Amino acid sequence: MPRLLAKVIVIDPQNIDAAALEPVAQGLKAGQLAAFPTETVYGLGADAFNPLAVAAIFATKQRPMTDPVIVHIADMSDIAAVTDMPWEDLPPNALKLAQKFWPGPLTMVLPRGKRVPLVVTAGKDTVAVRMPSHPVARALIRMAGTPLAAPSANRFGHISPTTAQHVADDLGARVAWIVDGGPSQVGVESTIVDVMTSPPTLLRPGGVSAEDLEEVLGEKLARPDRFAVQVHEAAPAPGMLLSHYAPEAKLLVFYHKNIEQAWRAALREIAAQAKISRRVGALAPQEYFQQALAAGAAEAALFGAAADSALAAQALYAGLRALDKAHVALIVTAIGQTNGIGLALQDRLWRAAGGIMLDAKNED
Ligand code: AMP
Ligand code: MG
Repeated sequence: MPRLLAKVIVIDPQNIDAAALEPVAQGLKAGQLAAFPTETVYGLGADAFNPLAVAAIFATKQRPMTDPVIVHIADMSDIAAVTDMPWEDLPPNALKLAQKFWPGPLTMVLPRGKRVPLVVTAGKDTVAVRMPSHPVARALIRMAGTPLAAPSANRFGHISPTTAQHVADDLGARVAWIVDGGPSQVGVESTIVDVMTSPPTLLRPGGVSAEDLEEVLGEKLARPDRFAVQVHEAAPAPGMLLSHYAPEAKLLVFYHKNIEQAWRAALREIAAQAKISRRVGALAPQEYFQQALAAGAAEAALFGAAADSALAAQALYAGLRALDKAHVALIVTAIGQTNGIGLALQDRLWRAAGGIMLDAKNED
């Protein structure tokens, strides 16, 4: 059992107790790490201008130094310290997106200011910047008096945390502070857009939909090929392409643009696995929850509603963690159309499954 070292500070986002938050802000100023709530997932924060503190984030998460972290700000006036230019001088597309989506689950890649150490940006001359909307995150950034560099507060490669308990489970013995501000409302990470390219490039789908960004920009986003998610026809091969956001149990994700079709295949898989006595966990939206149990799932975790991808996003990581805690051998789920926040769901499930998504089209 890890020795619990983190001090957990519970803060009501509706009624922030500044006195209770003060020691955390002081700790951050002194170079300590603090996990804190945001609307996307919980972050593991350090003073973004303190290279030793930021290096400690990488050590704590066991995250490779080649993976840059996002800098979190509380106000537009913080842009100047992070990019060396007043916010009014940001590229026009950045201004448009900031006006519409900040504070919120959007990260923009901007020019790196000299005060931002290279450990933050993995040696790049650009810095990824986000203004979270969570009141506790913004209060903490203001009280610390510095932007906070913060990746998700989990072991590298593991499932992102959406509650303070998730953080304690992963890193409780390795961080000074955990600020508990309740469950994250969005539930998946921010959308990352490089606004220095023309058109801007979607680097990671997330809490703000690509469609909403494109409407404000008045043009289509460029999308790197690596987001062309591969859908496999055959049974999953052992050689895994990718692994991130991953549970301990093996994860099978069925995909069809029609969610009913996708779930038919998933339910058949659950039944087949249960028949050979495998302990199967279903990550099931409310519409399929009872059916998954009836098909033979030993455990089921609620995956929002099939008709509401925002609810599904909120429940994704907590559901995967709950099924791991229930020691299932295999987790089965399915997803349908990939518009709106569904694109982020598809991306995270695809990575959590090691880069494999199963085509439900030939299953009938
Ligand atoms: P997270 O693990 O949620 O903190 O996400 C950090 C991700 O942001 C990285 O894995 C990169 O994909 C992206 N990122 C951070 N900084 C930059 C940057 N300067 N340029 C491009 N992408 C970045
Ligand atoms: Mg992460």
